[in-house]
Amino acid sequence: MSAAEPVVVVRNAGRVYGTGESQVVALRDASLDVAAGEVLFVSGPSGCGKSTLTSIVGCVLRPTSGSVRVLGREVTTMTEAELAALRLTSIGFVFQAHNLVAALTAAENVRLPLSLQGVERGEADRRARELLSGVGLSDKVDRRPGDLSGGQRQRVAVARALIARPALLLADEPTASLDAQAGHDVMALMTAVARDHGTTVFVVTHDPRIRPFADRRIAMEDGRILGEEHA
Ligand code: ADP
Ligand code: MG
Repeated sequence: MSAAEPVVVVRNAGRVYGTGESQVVALRDASLDVAAGEVLFVSGPSGCGKSTLTSIVGCVLRPTSGSVRVLGREVTTMTEAELAALRLTSIGFVFQAHNLVAALTAAENVRLPLSLQGVERGEADRRARELLSGVGLSDKVDRRPGDLSGGQRQRVAVARALIARPALLLADEPTASLDAQAGHDVMALMTAVARDHGTTVFVVTHDPRIRPFADRRIAMEDGRILGEEHA
């Protein structure tokens, strides 16, 4: 990737699900650039294509038309294995539901992505504990998700998303299930990382309480990106 190229470059991208009668156009002619270190918020009504766009930017889903470049790679033509490798090394995900593994402790959950990358267990555990301490959970490292509050679980999920030091952090409604304070804490955590490590942060949210954290906001409607608003 050239130094000048934005981390995400979406050009006239479309996504269609299904075929024939049951065909759904989820994304239409979308174009978007996201710069390194930028915190971008995406909003819009349910069903307008936010999660589809997030999945495409996150290399989970390919567009069915147009071009999408993520970290200098053309998503449209990458194989499943190439997409999976790019996700593992370079992209972190946080969802509305924390998606932690119930049987594993916080530290074990957080080190999972490193274990998948073949990082030695002691080193992975050390980094997981350090990161959990950084998100204010040093006393919870050996607890299982069931013993944690919603906000604590989501902070574990953020730590897991960040452990591989991704260039791009994607979050789909990350504060929707949290109270105001916990939502604020989770968002503050994600934006601090963007600031400290130049991580690009892409957040789907309707939560008015976290609006001030955005560098830029875009709105979507019926599969289209409507317009943007700088913070
Ligand atoms: P949002 O996240 O804004 O609610 P989505 O991207 O999830 O919107 O969905 C956009 C449209 O695509 C909706 O009409 C939805 O029903 C449809 N859709 C999403 N995922 C699929 C899928 N896997 N198969 C078929 N239709 C889908
Ligand atoms: Mg969605």
